[in-house]
Amino acid sequence: MDNVADEQKLKGIPASPGIAIGQIFVLVEAPEREQQEPIAENAVAAELQRFEKARQQCAAEIEQFMQKARSLLPSAVPILEAQLLILNDPLLLEEITSAIYQRHSAASAVLMVFNKHEKQLLRLRDPLFRDRALDLEDVKDRILSILRNEQISFSLPEKSIIIAHSLTPSEVLLIKEKDVRGIILESSSLTSHPVMLARSLQIPAVIGVRDALRLAQHAQTVIVDGYSGSVIFNPSEATIATYKQRRRLRRRAEQRIRKLKSLPSITTDGCQLHLYANADSFEDLDAAVTAGAEGIGLLRTELFLFNPDSNNGLFDEDALTQQYGEIAARVYPLPVTFRLFDLTADKLPNKVFFLREPNPSLGLRGVRLLLKHRSILGAQLRAILRASQHRNVRLLIPMVTSVAEVLKVMKLLRRFAETFRKQEIPFDPNLPIGIMIETPAATLLAHKLAPMVQFMSIGSNDLTQYTMAADRDNAAVDFYYDPFHPAVLQLIARTIEAVQPYGLEVTICGEFASHPLAIDTLIGLGISGFSVAPSLLLSTKKRIREANAEDARHLARHVLELSSPEEVRAAITEFRRQRKQKQTSRYSSGKSRTA
Ligand code: PEP
Ligand code: MG
Repeated sequence: MDNVADEQKLKGIPASPGIAIGQIFVLVEAPEREQQEPIAENAVAAELQRFEKARQQCAAEIEQFMQKARSLLPSAVPILEAQLLILNDPLLLEEITSAIYQRHSAASAVLMVFNKHEKQLLRLRDPLFRDRALDLEDVKDRILSILRNEQISFSLPEKSIIIAHSLTPSEVLLIKEKDVRGIILESSSLTSHPVMLARSLQIPAVIGVRDALRLAQHAQTVIVDGYSGSVIFNPSEATIATYKQRRRLRRRAEQRIRKLKSLPSITTDGCQLHLYANADSFEDLDAAVTAGAEGIGLLRTELFLFNPDSNNGLFDEDALTQQYGEIAARVYPLPVTFRLFDLTADKLPNKVFFLREPNPSLGLRGVRLLLKHRSILGAQLRAILRASQHRNVRLLIPMVTSVAEVLKVMKLLRRFAETFRKQEIPFDPNLPIGIMIETPAATLLAHKLAPMVQFMSIGSNDLTQYTMAADRDNAAVDFYYDPFHPAVLQLIARTIEAVQPYGLEVTICGEFASHPLAIDTLIGLGISGFSVAPSLLLSTKKRIREANAEDARHLARHVLELSSPEEVRAAITEFRRQRKQKQTSRYSSGKSRTA
């Protein structure tokens, strides 16, 4: 037996950020205990009536919850709407009614029919259906408790931390009303409705903590670290002090950004822009979500490689599948854009490629290298396709220079999708596919590439390098490597213009996207949005919110006429100076814009 005083640390999946320290409250599921004996023939009518009354009361309760959720937790409203649909589903109602006619009590008819549908949904192994199953369970529990005259309510001690196998959405809503500080679950679906609700409620949560219920029996206090996924039972005084300090630091940092975080990325004249984050690590994913990114606009998958734990080599399909599934779930429901490996042969250990090229960035890089090594491309495409079952995945092809490259990747993807369909492996049949615009060839072919894809992302780092023929990592040519060069701006403008008739989203994800001087010009050129490092999300948003799209269009037209980066920078600086002046004079005449 565990020593009561021992500190014990378990590791789970961080599901909702934040640190909580508190008393444990174990939530045990009520046993399913309906009688099996048939009811008397003359009791059928009364049971039918009882069921109908319970159904109506249940609908009224859900409506009530929905009222509350509209102000407290808007993200719960669609879940509750789905539950109302379940309550009115003619097929379910007919099955329950006919079970009662066959002399099952109202409660056992509900249990039987709901359980059957739940099982069918779970068998489909698709997270979307798993959520539907949880909704069914929630409605079932609610009707049963009405029929049994029970209250779905529990008395929680102050500031407690709930430990359970899993939760239903309405249990999370109840938790909202109590002073719950944290959630620890043994089950592990990051994309389930309750976990999403916990995230919206900003309740720190760690899930997939095996053994949590057992350890909870021998502990009173627990720490939940929703950033790292650690759960510490019976923490020592020193551990508590460390976590309190960590919490203070995090809170301070979060407070600074909170205000801007909830504001839209919109210009002063109402032009809405996308604001995504680039992610080079798992920490970036969390930072992006915390800072309110609309999603991950660029996940550099090659930087998530080099996993020392992988025994089967760098491109082990199972390891990639697991990693991508985790990433997609970690940011769910936000979209995540997996860029195919953008590797050069020289970046890889000898045992992977023997190729040594004199000029790797003009050699087999990105999609070129992948098309040469189909087994790597295949493993990655299949892993991304599997992760797409969450329906929040996008795929991005790097270093495109021709239509043929895109066609080849798509052909391969279609083949895998076909196999998955036959094997009943869930995936997103509408997985959005995009290309990076990083080469002059891609910009000049943008009108041909546009009808083939769903979105485009301008990689200004490489576009500058290849347009200016200046190695981005060579300090000797720093002077030439300049994204403000009119040639680079012309290519960006040309891409956006060529793609416009197809209505595609064209964002920009290189460092230029977050350059303080670049944002107005890019908006003026008609960019649909930005993808920037998580730490620069809010400063980028601030600049978007200061911009005026109409003025920016004038600026863009002007800079496209110029002939050197110095002139471009000077024009932008002057534009900003004038705007500031206008704002100051407007402010002093009392017509300031309210935030
Ligand atoms: C780019 O080229 O601008 C880009 C975002 O990709 P990377 O920096 O990974 O080459
Ligand atoms: Mg690039």
